[in-house]
Amino acid sequence: MVGQGEPAADLNAGRKTPFRPSVKPDGRCMRKPMEEARARLRAVFGLRDFRPGQEAVIAALLAGEDVLAVMPTGSGKSLCYQLPALLGAGLTVVVSPLIALMRDQVAQMRALGVAAAALNSANPPGENRRVVESVRAGSLALLYAAPERLAMPETMALLRASGVRLLAIDEAHCVSRWGHDFRPEYLSLGALRAALGGVRTIALTATADAATRSEIERKLFDRPPRVFVHGFDRPNIGLAMRAKRHAERQLLAFLERHAGHSGIIYCASRKGTDALARALAARDLRAVPYHAGMDKAARDANQDLFLREDGVVVVATVAFGMGIDKPDVRFVCHANMPQTIENYYQEIGRAGRDGLPAETLTLYGLDDMRLRRVQIEESGAAEEKKRIEHQRLTALIALCEAPRCRRETLLAYFGERTAPCGNCDLCVDGIEVVDGSVEAQKLLSAVARTGERFGTEHIVALVRGEETDRLRRFGHHRLPTFGVGADRSKQEWRGIVRQLYAAGCLTLEIADHGRWRMTDEGRAVMRGQRRFEMRRDAATPPRPKRDRATGSTPRAAALPVADEALFAELKALRRRLAAEEDVPAYVVFSDRTLIELADARPATRDAMRGVHGVGAAKLEKYGDAFLAAIAAAPPRP
Ligand code: ADP
Ligand code: ZN
Repeated sequence: MVGQGEPAADLNAGRKTPFRPSVKPDGRCMRKPMEEARARLRAVFGLRDFRPGQEAVIAALLAGEDVLAVMPTGSGKSLCYQLPALLGAGLTVVVSPLIALMRDQVAQMRALGVAAAALNSANPPGENRRVVESVRAGSLALLYAAPERLAMPETMALLRASGVRLLAIDEAHCVSRWGHDFRPEYLSLGALRAALGGVRTIALTATADAATRSEIERKLFDRPPRVFVHGFDRPNIGLAMRAKRHAERQLLAFLERHAGHSGIIYCASRKGTDALARALAARDLRAVPYHAGMDKAARDANQDLFLREDGVVVVATVAFGMGIDKPDVRFVCHANMPQTIENYYQEIGRAGRDGLPAETLTLYGLDDMRLRRVQIEESGAAEEKKRIEHQRLTALIALCEAPRCRRETLLAYFGERTAPCGNCDLCVDGIEVVDGSVEAQKLLSAVARTGERFGTEHIVALVRGEETDRLRRFGHHRLPTFGVGADRSKQEWRGIVRQLYAAGCLTLEIADHGRWRMTDEGRAVMRGQRRFEMRRDAATPPRPKRDRATGSTPRAAALPVADEALFAELKALRRRLAAEEDVPAYVVFSDRTLIELADARPATRDAMRGVHGVGAAKLEKYGDAFLAAIAAAPPRP
């Protein structure tokens, strides 16, 4: 057991956790704090080194500073408070908005041998009382609680009496009224902090938005915290976006490459969610729906299935995902265009937290763009807010239609600069930009000559020279632009419209089902004063036969496993152990640990100790079972 043989402080008498903080009776740390932190990182968590960002945050906390940590999903935010919680005496209180998340984090901490518990309304009767007792007895290192629970006078009194040493506020962006995750109870956390005597506090979020960040600073801290903003790149996540053609077919082709993998498919509506989940289940995929319109029991059961088992696909609205910290989600799809770039980033960020290759696919179309505009207009928000939302939408469309590396465009939105990534559809497929000035002039003059009063289908029919009833009614079949673009298909012209939209030559007026208006930029292009460059594939879509409809990053679908058979064997063992303990599979070991085990084939406990994710407690508990499975495996193929 870690911590044995080290002198325990009187403070910790009766502390049940095996990890006695090595504090001298006078309260000082035995070793330099960061050395101690590193030792725990290895011994307790079984991790070799800090990830970028973690070390600086932990050092600041250990030096007694308040911290606001803005780090991408999957970067390892939890460790930033879990590790300090094991150093020194006293309780760390973790504020977390979701009960499911709390439960899993507690299970993970306990699997590492750390004394952790959660205080919430979903606990079985008696459990909360036991938790309160252990807080009083000082035997807990980590206490997870929902903000509404913390706001209760008796909880406040309990915590004041028990000496809280560190307050960790997870998903801190929930304090922001502007965001879609706003939780009013988060507003009471500033008071909690004051009631605890201005206890050292760390707030964590993956939301990059500068406005949100300053709101967190104002509402949760009474003095400016140290702010750490970590790079937003998640290089292991492959990015791909495609214009919708046959959405279901595109999704199925993508899913085929992910047989047996866990993944999430986001849909824009509840109805769409149910329909797609049914369609996938009918094809024998393990797909379940999740949205706020379902009854709670069914929803929770589906979420549980996804968390606990390998290879479940959740088809969900954006209601799903916050606080889901399943590390081995291998793909995220958007069946419709996401709401904003921030949402997109958060949602795809749920893939590949374990750092192993993960893949994403986003489908989008002009219908999504129009719908989003309508939503903004009808939101009832103040004009200023609407204006900002429209700008956000424009930025998202520019990302969908980007003429260069997606990651470059995405990170530029967050103020970061990078080189072309090699792991997005545009880098992999290569992107060709061609002179589209002539096409642009044809389409823009069709918009101008019809008084900027018509939507996509009408304009496209006009340039293609289709004599629809509507065209006749307006006499548009007599315009000189009628039929100037007969050489191109509808799809191609729609692609050109999107490119013009993304380039800011057209704006969408949402009145009358969306009509196109010209911008100054568009007028300049129409008059030939400015060149218009566009993606070749916008106008000339890839031929469907060549399986390019889904983003061609097939290598990303495969995990780097040399010995598939042994890996499968170890997964089965993990499943058995997890079922026995009634915890999600990844609480036993992550995929990454299993891959390393299958690769290195350790024969002894000592050899197993060096493997990722194998700390003292897990070695003790699972070591022999896995060593036996490895020893019994046939020789390497
Ligand atoms: P976040 O809260 O930032 O989304 P998590 O705290 O859930 O991320 O961590 C994501 C994954 O990264 C987890 O599986 C965790 O075990 C792993 N992880 C965290 N820190 C490290 C590290 N220093 N080395 C290796 N893996 C790590
Ligand atoms: Zn790229």
